[in-house]
Amino acid sequence: MYASSGNTQVRAGIVVTGTELLSGLITDRNGPWLAQRLGELGVEVAHLLCVGDRPEDLAAALRFLGDQRIDLVVTSGGLGPTADDVTAEVVAGFAGVRLELDAAVEQQIASALARFRRGSSFDSEALLAANRKQAMVPRGAQTLNPVGTAPGLVLAIENGPTVIVLPGPPRELQAMWPMAVATPAARAVLDHARPYESAQLRLFGLPESQIAVTLREVSQTLDLTPMEITTCVRHAELVIDIRHRPGAEATRRALIEAIRMQHTHQVFSTDGTSLDDQLAQLLRGRRIGLAESCTGGLLAARLTARPGASDYVAGGVVAYSNTAKTELLGVPAELIEQHGAVSPEVARAMADGARHRVGANVGVGITGVAGPGGGTDAKPVGYVCICVTTSDGAHLASDPVLPGDRAEIRDRSVTVAMHLVRRVLQGVEVDTPSR
Ligand code: ATP
Repeated sequence: MYASSGNTQVRAGIVVTGTELLSGLITDRNGPWLAQRLGELGVEVAHLLCVGDRPEDLAAALRFLGDQRIDLVVTSGGLGPTADDVTAEVVAGFAGVRLELDAAVEQQIASALARFRRGSSFDSEALLAANRKQAMVPRGAQTLNPVGTAPGLVLAIENGPTVIVLPGPPRELQAMWPMAVATPAARAVLDHARPYESAQLRLFGLPESQIAVTLREVSQTLDLTPMEITTCVRHAELVIDIRHRPGAEATRRALIEAIRMQHTHQVFSTDGTSLDDQLAQLLRGRRIGLAESCTGGLLAARLTARPGASDYVAGGVVAYSNTAKTELLGVPAELIEQHGAVSPEVARAMADGARHRVGANVGVGITGVAGPGGGTDAKPVGYVCICVTTSDGAHLASDPVLPGDRAEIRDRSVTVAMHLVRRVLQGVEVDTPSR
């Protein structure tokens, strides 16, 4: 490591390039992915920068990182054949070396293009000329076999960081990552990294502010200094990431136990499993039927996103209108008349109806006011009635007023419904968020 004297922490900077990322046209998928991989290797990601396709902007980002105590820089994008693909050239400039034609790489690109050209009408000479540019590599760099046509690069800079240069398309970048970290130049840096030990807790039904209180309390009796604790809310769940260097396992275990004791009803995962993982397990040997109104099929989509879902998802009905609720699910029209389409009674009848209509032993009904219009004092926007019933008579219902905009309300409704299913199947009768 070039700059880490006295400090064993390996630090990295990530530079994601692409004007389309800055204009908001696409969302960066490479920065977070790389940050996770580096984190797993025990590398401290100190900066994640996003720059456009202008060479001077990329050069400025590299200069900035060069001024920090950074051991490793990883770039994504700008390796293609077009004029705005400038990463290799800018990295060469940053390293103070020349670009050189790598004949082997040129040959590889030619072969890749020959496969691509087969059956197409592109002019091969023009393509070859454009792609010869991709075979220009900074002197001293090790090239990585391309997954598309753009080869990756790894360059150890004298008195500077090692730079890993990867293409922009996430599929290509991810496929080339193992090759990049296996190169001698990358290993020379990464071998100094000490991987973190980590654990993840997931809670449902607890505000983020409450966990801060709990952590403060725990820290009165347990020294949490070796722990790095981050909390975030995802899909209405609270995720607590705990990581530490090897040696502090006992503290981690004590911390997890303290959180579990304090929030018994809210902690649903301490082993990293997600709600989706748990439901897939719990539904094994069962069949679930879904009746969705305000979520419009989002629950069905989420449950069927996993391969193998056909083992337990029997089917679902999107019943948006009252008529659909009556005709497709058998919800009595009088029930809707009496209680309103958004009511605990109708949610329960929808769950029963779904179960019967698709031949399932677990049924879910969701009906709510997703907004932005349609709310009343009694049933405001965000009011959602959810019910889970089973063929052996168990049932669990919740009718919270969920926060957020239409998309968030629909997303949270799905999460609440899935937690109700989990609780029913685990036989846990606990408080559910309700009005
Ligand atoms: P190519 O040879 O495919 O041009 P490249 O390294 O030049 O490779 P870019 O031109 O920067 O890659 O990006 C190509 C495409 O890959 C982009 O249009 C975009 O669809 C996708 N892409 C690039 N960077 C990212 C990113 N950070 N997150 C998500 N998608 C990305």
